[in-house]
Amino acid sequence: MGEPRIRTALDGVPDYRPGRPPSAADGRVPYKLSSNENPYPPLPGVLAAVTEAAARMNRYPDMGAVDLYAALSRHHAVPVSDLAVATGSVAVLYHLLQATCEHGDEVVYAWRSFEAYPIAVRLVGATPVEVPLTSAAEHDLEAMLAAIGERTRVVVVCTPNNPTGPGVGSDALAEFVARVPEDVLVVVDEAYAEFAAKPTRALELTRTRDNVVVLRTFSKAYGLAGLRVGYAVAPARIASAVRKVALPFGVSDLAQAAAVASLDAEEELLDRVDALVAERDRTVAAARELGWPVPDSQANFFWLPTAGRTTEVAEVFARDGLAVRPFAGDGIRVTIGERDANDRVLEVLRRLGS
Ligand code: PMP
Repeated sequence: MGEPRIRTALDGVPDYRPGRPPSAADGRVPYKLSSNENPYPPLPGVLAAVTEAAARMNRYPDMGAVDLYAALSRHHAVPVSDLAVATGSVAVLYHLLQATCEHGDEVVYAWRSFEAYPIAVRLVGATPVEVPLTSAAEHDLEAMLAAIGERTRVVVVCTPNNPTGPGVGSDALAEFVARVPEDVLVVVDEAYAEFAAKPTRALELTRTRDNVVVLRTFSKAYGLAGLRVGYAVAPARIASAVRKVALPFGVSDLAQAAAVASLDAEEELLDRVDALVAERDRTVAAARELGWPVPDSQANFFWLPTAGRTTEVAEVFARDGLAVRPFAGDGIRVTIGERDANDRVLEVLRRLGS
């Protein structure tokens, strides 16, 4: 009697922990500030496009996602061959690792960063090489370069960095990429790019380098987290590999229609991004005034370095009906929400004292 084998690469791979929903507190409105979602409801035009697509749900989606590829190609002024769409940008990352890594290969990334990285790397049998952030919670690009070795296949740069907030400067990124060996893939994860004050010009690097990929998503600035659609802009050879690995029919017709309609409504959506950025800046400034050492944030969230008090502080938020994202022993990530939600966050911070 045996049992089916589970690959040893899966031993010790942690489960992905999604942000928890809030529980209601004392009749006050609960807010979910734990998954970096966009608090705005869908635009009517986006909802209409989804409703229309829903009428076709007895059919498989367009596997070629032709309209979405065409819209993205216009949006970024790149050929369709340089794009790969998948079930959220996290899926694109998994596909990139599946396409590039063998057992024993190494993937370098900053830590702390997006918690899907160590999971995705271990799942393909590769070895994570984690390079600590600087004391300003930024990528230490020099140390990341030094961590690249013979077995390194991929280096991931998360900018702005989830969960700490700072972005990598445009010139710093270009200089970094120029120093990475050409046979190492540089994945620039720009899930929060639209919230950043200064763009990185990473997209340009995908045109001039054969080893640079940019990940983008409709989940954050475009407010489509529930529909799961993200994409890579990459040299054609890399984009083609991602498309080969991607699950067939992974992006639903609803998601495709919503993404196309969102690109059409970009101006209105980016106005919402501007409002969220203004709320972020207001909230971070007020938190700092209260004495909290919040690092720079270029995204739709900010970081509270709560160290040993993390669990306790997260519970205080939870008792107030605010679900935030604790990383035990390290800090708390708070998503920017509606004005009232952010005021409530500041109320808790005031009460806690720094
Ligand atoms: N990259 C980063 C840095 C993220 O924070 C997230 C979402 N939390 C993703 C990628 C994945 O986004 P999605 O799969 O929804 O496109």
